[in-house]
Amino acid sequence: MKVLVINSGSSSIKYQLLDPESGAVAASGIVQRIGEPVADGAPTVEHKSDGKTFEHDGEIADHAAGLRVVFDLFRASGHDLAHEQLAAVGHRVVHGGEVFYEPTLIDDRVVRAISDLSALAPLHNPANVVGIESARALLPEVPQVAVFDTAFFHRLPAAAKTYAIDAKIAAAHGVRKYGFHGTSHDYVSGQVAKFLGRDRSELNQIVLHLGNGASASAIRGGQAVDTTMGLTPLEGLVMGTRSGDLDPGIIFHLIRTAEMNVDDVDDLLNRQSGLKGLSGVNDFRELDTLRETGDAAAQLAFDVYIHRLRRYIGAYLIELGHVDAITFTAGVGENDAAVRAAALAGLENFGIQVDAARNTGKDRSARYISPAGAPVAALVVPTNEELAIARAAADLVA
Ligand code: ADP
Repeated sequence: MKVLVINSGSSSIKYQLLDPESGAVAASGIVQRIGEPVADGAPTVEHKSDGKTFEHDGEIADHAAGLRVVFDLFRASGHDLAHEQLAAVGHRVVHGGEVFYEPTLIDDRVVRAISDLSALAPLHNPANVVGIESARALLPEVPQVAVFDTAFFHRLPAAAKTYAIDAKIAAAHGVRKYGFHGTSHDYVSGQVAKFLGRDRSELNQIVLHLGNGASASAIRGGQAVDTTMGLTPLEGLVMGTRSGDLDPGIIFHLIRTAEMNVDDVDDLLNRQSGLKGLSGVNDFRELDTLRETGDAAAQLAFDVYIHRLRRYIGAYLIELGHVDAITFTAGVGENDAAVRAAALAGLENFGIQVDAARNTGKDRSARYISPAGAPVAALVVPTNEELAIARAAADLVA
């Protein structure tokens, strides 16, 4: 049995064909620069299957065209999706609003509802809808399942999810903290429990999902009680290109004094800020290289990133009262020992310790970075959103 997982972004599609039980990946790939001209000859589609890479370098007009190329590459690599006995196609959908908080079988009504939520996620939900429509057209016989990034945070306590603004305006416009990366926070906190040999219901956890986007969550007994992202994925931690928290007054100030309109500020805070805005680079590997050369802007970007991260670790320690495990995951969290060491430095009084040798170890599987016997387990646990989506989709159609 296999599930095709599709993650459609505004100009890209990531996908995997995998076995939801074993997690074995039969094929995977990415379509990039959808709708953009390609003059440089760099591939627009890279498809990996059975250790081989297949490329396509023609222009990709839209998501439907991208998926058609992907299906051709599947066929060329020996996996004809029409005959692959697909149990389901699982779609990552960013915003479920108040409507969707469980994996949902897709029909016309569900597609319309996801589309109606576009005002809350203008960069993401329209792309998700196009990906869903394209996959439905190409695989009409296969059940399609939507898995929502917001679902894990649906039942945040009222005090955590409510913004202190006029309650009537908030209710009329769906303004609340929704949270994102939920599939990852859910999956990783489950893996933590397995790794510790404990039941998730007995554990208080802090999960730090640090990728290009970044978010933290506080989880009590498997239930999320707080998270850093909000109405949109802009709130909270410093990210690759997003500012995270700031004084909302900055927005009005820029509109009034810097000749910027709403879209300019939106672009500034979502795409030109964070590490990139402070240092010129959004990739932590490049940031670390710049820091090693003594680049002051890169060092400040690192310091701001860590300062914000520690603020939330502190907040969630207090919120949970007692923490069993603090876990790093995603591209930065899994790979960057300097970030992990700085994030948890000097917290011995809270039972949090980092073992330098364990922290710099290169093992790719779930592991401790705290010393044996430390009161709080500090961990690195790889996330796997595709596997979590495949399992959710397979469970729903079973
Ligand atoms: P996304 O949020 O796009 O899913 P990932 O979780 O894959 O992203 O994280 C991507 C980011 O992880 C990169 O932008 C880079 O900053 C960081 N990263 C990846 N590999 C390393 C590494 N070896 N060391 C430090 N940072 C890394």
